[in-house]
Amino acid sequence: MSDLLDYHDALGTLLETHHPLAGKESVALEQLDRRVLAQDMAVQYDVPAFDNSAMDGYAISGNDRKSWQVVHRIAAGDAGAQQRLEAGQAARIFTGAPVPAGATAVLMQERVSLDATVNTISPIASADEAGGVPQGLNIRYQAEELRRGATLLPRAQRLTPAAIGLLSAQGYTHAPCVPQLRVAVFSSGNELVEPGQALREGQIYDSNRQMLAALLRAQGFAVHNGGILPDQLAATRAALRQAARNADAIICSGGVSVGEEDHLKTALEQEGELIQWRLFIKPGKPFTWGRIGDCRVFMLPGNPVSSLVTFQQLALPALMRLAGLPIEQARPWQLRARADFTRDKAEPRREFVRVTLHGGPDGYRVRPMQRQGSAMLSGAAFAHALAEVPPGERVEPGRELVVYPLVDRF
Ligand code: AMP
Ligand code: MG
Repeated sequence: MSDLLDYHDALGTLLETHHPLAGKESVALEQLDRRVLAQDMAVQYDVPAFDNSAMDGYAISGNDRKSWQVVHRIAAGDAGAQQRLEAGQAARIFTGAPVPAGATAVLMQERVSLDATVNTISPIASADEAGGVPQGLNIRYQAEELRRGATLLPRAQRLTPAAIGLLSAQGYTHAPCVPQLRVAVFSSGNELVEPGQALREGQIYDSNRQMLAALLRAQGFAVHNGGILPDQLAATRAALRQAARNADAIICSGGVSVGEEDHLKTALEQEGELIQWRLFIKPGKPFTWGRIGDCRVFMLPGNPVSSLVTFQQLALPALMRLAGLPIEQARPWQLRARADFTRDKAEPRREFVRVTLHGGPDGYRVRPMQRQGSAMLSGAAFAHALAEVPPGERVEPGRELVVYPLVDRF
């Protein structure tokens, strides 16, 4: 037993205590990817806007005939309202073109034969002859999908490319969105060096900041690169204080464990409020969160895989809430898969194993990456997902596990 917080309790608390940013901003179509709507968007034009053809073929009037006289030609983009069909008449028509008044169906061009000498068409498929042509066949009727005034897209939805297409199809040039989340990212540790600089003995290049920045950008957040903090309390405090003025959230990694050179936690306590420190998870035990004024602070462990896991499983869901998503959409996406491996040794903490997902006849199976150490980023680089092993449990092949796809892979 442990006094450390369980993952699911921590996640639940994070989701409930982080709330969408106030205010809204008007965002142009080109910038809408992954933004969250701040209000419902209405249907401005019926969809379809007018009755139109779903096929290249012939609009006909009177469905129980054997032939029709072709009297018009209507292409996509033509104004179709002028043309009219009387019973027994047809119009050559193309996909998306307005269906003329009086049309009762559209016949696919592959299913009619044209007698060019007298300009008549007749069906070639016996099915059409038998029961007559169904009323409205291949006609997309005005407003059959969406009617003016209805809700096009509800607020608190993360815009997908299809949703952006829908807004564009309605003639919107901008949409009101929750303000873009501004996140400052720091690394912490005297040993860390920026790539491009010379390495001295005992130093390593920083991996976490670029990894975290990439994860944040992939979510559509505005990232401020705060650089590397030295293992020094005063400098750390000053940097966090400064960043909290201009960011909605701070993500830092390293310096949050129990060593004497770990100053992040103390800096948070002194500059703002430390809300939670340490979870009963592997990897990622030192994960910490709190706030400095209105700025939310997430302190991830320095080991790169611990940083990745706690970011995806804990910090990101909280950030998604700030970005405007409802709790259920901010939760890490999960599915179930069967273990394709054995784990003999029971680990007391709840573990997140880096795995690949493989489709099979009985659903997904997961296999662990080879290098599972929390410092071994190579064992995470091409993982598909994190498989959750509950505390104290062994894993037999075929055992069902909860699996969290890595957000950047899907
Ligand atoms: P710490 O949490 O500061 O005790 O760091 C734990 C381990 O993670 C140490 O081996 C650090 O060198 C390493 N580490 C911390 N931050 C980073 C980083 N940004 N990039 C790569 N390794 C890091
Ligand atoms: Mg350190």
